[in-house]
Amino acid sequence: MTRSVTDIIATLGTGIHVDGTWRDAASGATFEVENPATGEVVARLADGGADDAAAAIETAARTQEEWAAVPARERAEILRRAYELLVERTDELALLMTTEMGKPLAEARGEVAYGAEFFRWFSEEACRIRGDARRSPDGKTRLMVTHEPVGPCILITPWNFPLAMGTRKIGPAIAAGCTMVFKPANLTPLTSLYLVDVLREAGLPDGVLNVVCTTDAGGVVEPWIDSGLARKLTFTGSTPVGKILLEQCSRHVLRTSMELGGNAPFVVCSDADLDTAVSAAMAAKMRNMGEACTAANRILVHRSVIEEFGRRLSEKMSALTVGDGTAEGTDVGPLVEQKAVDKVVDLVDDAVDRGARVLCGGRRGDGPGHFYPPTVLTDVSPDASLMSTEIFGPVAALVPFDDDDEAVRMANDTEFGLVSFVISENLDRALMYSERLQAGMVGINVGVVSNPAGPFGGIKQSGLGREGGLTGIEEFVESKLVAIPVR
Ligand code: ADP
Repeated sequence: MTRSVTDIIATLGTGIHVDGTWRDAASGATFEVENPATGEVVARLADGGADDAAAAIETAARTQEEWAAVPARERAEILRRAYELLVERTDELALLMTTEMGKPLAEARGEVAYGAEFFRWFSEEACRIRGDARRSPDGKTRLMVTHEPVGPCILITPWNFPLAMGTRKIGPAIAAGCTMVFKPANLTPLTSLYLVDVLREAGLPDGVLNVVCTTDAGGVVEPWIDSGLARKLTFTGSTPVGKILLEQCSRHVLRTSMELGGNAPFVVCSDADLDTAVSAAMAAKMRNMGEACTAANRILVHRSVIEEFGRRLSEKMSALTVGDGTAEGTDVGPLVEQKAVDKVVDLVDDAVDRGARVLCGGRRGDGPGHFYPPTVLTDVSPDASLMSTEIFGPVAALVPFDDDDEAVRMANDTEFGLVSFVISENLDRALMYSERLQAGMVGINVGVVSNPAGPFGGIKQSGLGREGGLTGIEEFVESKLVAIPVR
């Protein structure tokens, strides 16, 4: 039977986990975690600072050599057991995630499946880290290439996918044999605390994964970077924070993986199957209430079909039930905080001032909780702010175009390059788009591309490196060349 959320929270750790022990902040400080659907405080956690940061990174550094020596198969089996525990406990983990983050239970369950899958995938990758051996071209030297864990890693995650953003960093770090210091987002730390306990139960040794929750992100992460003990930083979050971290990492030449912002174009061609277009747009726009870096931010629609597409999309969007994500039947939960709602309100007002028409939604309700209704805007002007800003809310912005060249130009007119979507029944046209769109990922006739077995990541200011897929593990290993003369 699923426990109540109060019972689940009562068994969670304090918020700071060092060398296998939960502890209070050295300063004694705490912070509150709220339910965004009600504004209610659901937990109070230790609020870490510089002393806690130091204890965590020193532990990770001390544990690194011993952890790297654990056979790959053993590390793989820890991940595999953790995968099974997460799947077994889907319902209660989903309830916890919804309570702190707001997404409907069905989506939270989907995230548990997606997030757990990173552990299964990397449990399979752990034993397949490749090497190389060959003679040099002149025949005089044996060249042997091995791979070693990069070393202690700094992990920083955002609030929008509280489980999956953690597992897709922790999974490959464990598989590669890296120790970690981990700072989850302070809006949604509870899922991470649950995850730590699952990993302990699965057999993760003390000192491998050290966690510091904090409301002072810079006050914890900068000392980690400047400690000189970390060898890598992996971050998912906004581009401005990513740039600060890149600068800080340059001081110590840390390796970095950066999953930053997006501004995904979603192109509906004149030959699109409109049922496919609408269901893909619903997925690309409404997954996580639009609070995803992969969300369709600009929906570019061929002028010949924009009227019909807008009508069908509005029909679907208006039929969604908005409410507390823990209530069965809710399709759209609250946004994560009031600031997020205020930002959406400003972006919609600005678009309307610049000539956009509201097909549905467009006005926030009264009442408690950070709710914003599913909204469709059409004839959005290219100079509206939401064309260059991540909306991070349930607002579909439709923009007409007249030919493919114009759509490609508009789609690429952004400093971001995370994901693009194209909807077309013509294979040649869809492939042409996939080749010309500047993005790390392209979805054809689909609204979600994320999959642990594929490399997730962006180009341009959307980031550096890839998570998942065959290359995901490479971000956590260094190659070492051993040269041996032929005598
Ligand atoms: P979002 O808009 O998704 O909250 P942020 O980039 O602000 O994106 O946050 C993503 C993660 O980065 C969170 O865990 C946040 O606490 C952390 N963060 C924010 N500012 C800093 C900083 N100066 N140094 C390190 N981490 C930071």
